[in-house]
Amino acid sequence: MTMLLNQKYEIYPTGEQKQLLDRWLQYCRQTYNSALLDKQRKYHQSKESYTREDMQKQLKLDKKKYPFLKEVPSQPLQEVFLRLKKAFDSFFRKDTKYPKLKTYKDYNSMTFPQFGFNNKGHRYAMSFTDSGKLYNKKLGEISILLHRPLEGTIKQLILKRQGEKWYAIFCVERQALPLSIDQTNAIGIDVGLNKYVVLSNGLEYENPRFLRKKEKQLKKAQCKLSKRKKGSANYIKQVQLVRKLHEKVANQRRDFLHKLSYNFSKSYSVITVENLNIRNMVRNRKLSKSISDAGWGVFRNMLAYKCEKYGGAFIKVEPHYTSQDCSSCGERVKKSLSIRTHICTKCTTVLDRDYNASLNILKKGLEQLLVTN
Ligand SMILES: [Zn+2]
Repeated sequence: MTMLLNQKYEIYPTGEQKQLLDRWLQYCRQTYNSALLDKQRKYHQSKESYTREDMQKQLKLDKKKYPFLKEVPSQPLQEVFLRLKKAFDSFFRKDTKYPKLKTYKDYNSMTFPQFGFNNKGHRYAMSFTDSGKLYNKKLGEISILLHRPLEGTIKQLILKRQGEKWYAIFCVERQALPLSIDQTNAIGIDVGLNKYVVLSNGLEYENPRFLRKKEKQLKKAQCKLSKRKKGSANYIKQVQLVRKLHEKVANQRRDFLHKLSYNFSKSYSVITVENLNIRNMVRNRKLSKSISDAGWGVFRNMLAYKCEKYGGAFIKVEPHYTSQDCSSCGERVKKSLSIRTHICTKCTTVLDRDYNASLNILKKGLEQLLVTN
């Protein structure tokens, strides 16, 4: 049994190397944007689709016309089309908006789908030198800080720019953590509407009372503010109060989420969550309040990096039908949001709605974990 994991390390390109990397990113971005425009044009002209193969062909022509494109290793440049495909796939699934042209700000990484040496012992575009530096023909050697061992077979490498810094993210395949996955030690987490989270082992966690109390205070203070005359002394005083309360609530919430995610990542070896699309949920008015308040995205990020830190596996699964399907027999039992209990018409299982969902999330996660060779 194997699993795929991302391991991230800071790299230290020289000024010159940074310039080159920046330029490569720029060419990747231009390739992305022009493929997107070509796709749109083709669609408007003939309603025909413009496939990845078409894009590859166009790239070949472009490389002749614009030789500078040849400066970028060919694999990362072609991988751009895969990104575009994924962007459209997720748009068609209604998970994201229609793909946009990328600006400098939102195009920050390039993917090398192969790493190291091929069967014949030739280097791919990116590999390690004997002294453990990153190597590319045009870039030369780049220092990398392997602050913890890189374990497993490297499947691909992403170079990512974050502000002034650069990182290497290796996707590695390795043996699944525990030799046999301890089911009691693997959990699925569902974001509850009434409870904060519900776990597949039956545990539930509420928003702490002090937090709810503070939130109530904040709401009251905001309400009061709306009644004050803008610019008046009382108004200014109230603004300050609201700001202060706001900060307090945010701090307390962050504190709570840190503790909870720490606790989970220490207690469980496999944690599965839904890859919930915040955008879709925020569109749903009723849900939006509780979700954005609960800071689920923040919590998920905390869980992800803490799992990595403590050696656990963190798995995101697609949220489709997790609340509808029966966790014991798989029957799809349609229910609206207001129905809080899962009652299976086929196998007569009766479970709390969120608990049933957490079991489905766990099941999906374990399936995903057992990627076989
Ligand atoms: Zn059932």
